[in-house]
Amino acid sequence: MKPDSVAMSTLSSVCKQDVVCIFGTGDFGRSLGLRLLQAGYEVVYGSRDPKNSALLPKGAKVMTHEEAAQTARVIFVAVHREHYDFLTSLSPALEGKVLVDISNNLSRGLYPQSNAEYLSTLVPGAVVVKAFNTISAWALQSGGLDANRQVLICGNNPDAKQAVVDIAHSLGLTALDRGSLKAASELEDIPLQLFPMWRLPFRIAVGLLAVLFIYVLIRDVIYTWVMEKKDISFRIMVSLANKVFPMVALVMLALCYLPGVMAAFLQLYNGTKYRRFPDWLDRWMLCRKQLGLLALAFAFLHVLYTFAIPIRYYVFHRRFTFTSTMIKENKTYEFDNVMAWRSDSYLAMGMLGFALFVLLGITSLPSVSNSLNWREFSCIQSKLGHLTLLLCTAHTFLYGWDKFLKPSAYKWWMPPGYMLSLVVPCVVLILKLFLITPCMDRTITRIRQGWERSAKAGTPHKKGKSNQPLIL
Ligand code: NAP
Repeated sequence: MKPDSVAMSTLSSVCKQDVVCIFGTGDFGRSLGLRLLQAGYEVVYGSRDPKNSALLPKGAKVMTHEEAAQTARVIFVAVHREHYDFLTSLSPALEGKVLVDISNNLSRGLYPQSNAEYLSTLVPGAVVVKAFNTISAWALQSGGLDANRQVLICGNNPDAKQAVVDIAHSLGLTALDRGSLKAASELEDIPLQLFPMWRLPFRIAVGLLAVLFIYVLIRDVIYTWVMEKKDISFRIMVSLANKVFPMVALVMLALCYLPGVMAAFLQLYNGTKYRRFPDWLDRWMLCRKQLGLLALAFAFLHVLYTFAIPIRYYVFHRRFTFTSTMIKENKTYEFDNVMAWRSDSYLAMGMLGFALFVLLGITSLPSVSNSLNWREFSCIQSKLGHLTLLLCTAHTFLYGWDKFLKPSAYKWWMPPGYMLSLVVPCVVLILKLFLITPCMDRTITRIRQGWERSAKAGTPHKKGKSNQPLIL
């Protein structure tokens, strides 16, 4: 009997009183069995040594593989791929059954075939469904409340997949159909990934942090020690850190918006949206969210460090010395209206910029972004995002004020660190300003709606948009 012609109508109705079989009494088998029992299923284990199986959840039965296979229509294979050979001899007993392959590998490309496809070649009479491999035994045991709750499923038989989806739902998990069994190798690669989208942003953050820290260290601490013979190395802990964190945050925020404007200029140059962006630009655009979240983390650090400034010994000492000098010399500290405006504007820009930055971070969370339509999402991420960048750039300009005019600010010909951090944001804002001028905006909107410049239209090019929807 062909697996696809099996009377699958009954499979989709796996109800709570049904029996579910699990081959293997290891970590995953035990955790899954426990959850199935709690959900009301009858659980039967198939084991090599049924008499000596210990630590099984209360209420579960254990028997030989062959006997267990007779009891259920759905069988979870909680055994490592290396041991699948024993299933060949069970082929007659597994005829027409749904075999759920939950296995993972130790590394990518270990085998030419995915584990699930291998299983279906070993037992051609069964219907193989790949599922549950992205859920850990620990997550199952802890109720899936503090770990991934999504079961990714693939397989060639819709009824068999539905039977597994029903089981996932009864365990309080969500299910996502990822297509045919060909997708199994993709699913098996998922647990091997380690923050793939975070690698590039993380490297950028570490690189920027290191370069800017060394720059500020040379300019502030080493310069003072060499030229003035003064040791101010204690400033490394708070002052220098609080100079570097906002610089990294600002540059990284600007790096979130730079690929968007670059892509718009590329589309303007090509006169079409149907030409693929270079791979590096695609990769860059794909990690904008992570860049933004890391930038937000640095902005948070800046805020925390700033709050700590008034309680620092150094600040306390300076204030006390200044006040006592003024008293001794009988001088008054004149109120400077310009300085008051500068300081208040500096603080206001910083606070507003940070508040919008937090809002951007919140709207990037899947639970929030899922509740927004595409227009709302792009409006927040683009318009509010550029406004955030503008406010944070203004905050940095006000911090420097007229420092850049003073020759003393250029120690060893090195400009103050804040000036370096303004380069990328200013480039992004100027390019953006150029893009929102009416003539540019009109052309770019037409291109986005599918219009192609006639001169270029005849030019052959690779069709296909970027993988990334553009948020400018
Ligand atoms: P495990 O603790 O090592 O258990 C594997 C079970 O397979 C053993 O308890 C044994 O059960 C059976 N077995 C061992 N050698 C066998 C052989 N030669 N022939 C037949 N059966 C044999 O492994 P596990 O952590 O439960 O993982 C089981 C499968 O689930 C693996 O494919 C793994 O990739 C996948 N998985 C595990 C997790 C997890 O968090 N642990 C998460 C996702 C997917 P009996 O002694 O009863 O026969």
